[in-house]
Amino acid sequence: MTAILNILLLILFLVSTPKESFQDDQLQIRMKRNWGFSSGTGRIQGTFTITGIGPENLSQVVFYLDEQILGEANSPPFELRFVTDDYPLGPHQISAVGSTAARGEIVSNTIQVEFVSANEGWQAAGNIIIPIVVVVLGAIGLAVVVPLIFTRGKKKQLPPGAARSYGHYGGAICPKCSRPFSRHIYGLNLGLHKYDRCPYCGKWSLVRRASKEELDAAEEAELTAAQEGKFQPQTSEEEALQRDLEDSRFED
Ligand SMILES: [Zn+2]
Repeated sequence: MTAILNILLLILFLVSTPKESFQDDQLQIRMKRNWGFSSGTGRIQGTFTITGIGPENLSQVVFYLDEQILGEANSPPFELRFVTDDYPLGPHQISAVGSTAARGEIVSNTIQVEFVSANEGWQAAGNIIIPIVVVVLGAIGLAVVVPLIFTRGKKKQLPPGAARSYGHYGGAICPKCSRPFSRHIYGLNLGLHKYDRCPYCGKWSLVRRASKEELDAAEEAELTAAQEGKFQPQTSEEEALQRDLEDSRFED
């Protein structure tokens, strides 16, 4: 009983469903952008293709821009490519007339467009792109400037092995130079790690918060290294060169 009911409902459904495709005897035109600008509301600039879709026996499509013939297509796909810059700026209507063996001429739908200048097109595109570029450049700028602000005016580097407090973000041990340093507020948080800059060697690396024992050990190692004279007071390249010259003079 239910099966019969289902079949009846199905038949009813099939009969009542409107055909989605357009009528066989109609001509429809569609436009797509090949290159250029399209506002989405009909303001266009650049190269576009119009396609005519019609009955099977469609033999020719003539495309119109207002009353003027844009061009024609004599075989499927009935397509025509055009460049907006070849025509006056402003509002236009694009339409087509198709020829069929059986019914003669059929008129298509009309597409309303407004041809805009290349400048205007790029300006409109720029209104979208430029803010993105500004935001991206701004973010890059901040990433460079913020560490400079935070590191500027800080007291001179601590002497090696000096006891220090590592502050709110905890201490970390630089994997490049092995010296312990306080993690910075500007360090980029990545899970348990921070992408942070070592104030001693100036290198950026991914560091985790080191334990008290690790930090103590690193301070110890630093002190030992200092006693062995591994840390030279920082010299400019010029001074270093000067020292090398003086050293070599005494060698003679
Ligand atoms: Zn370092």
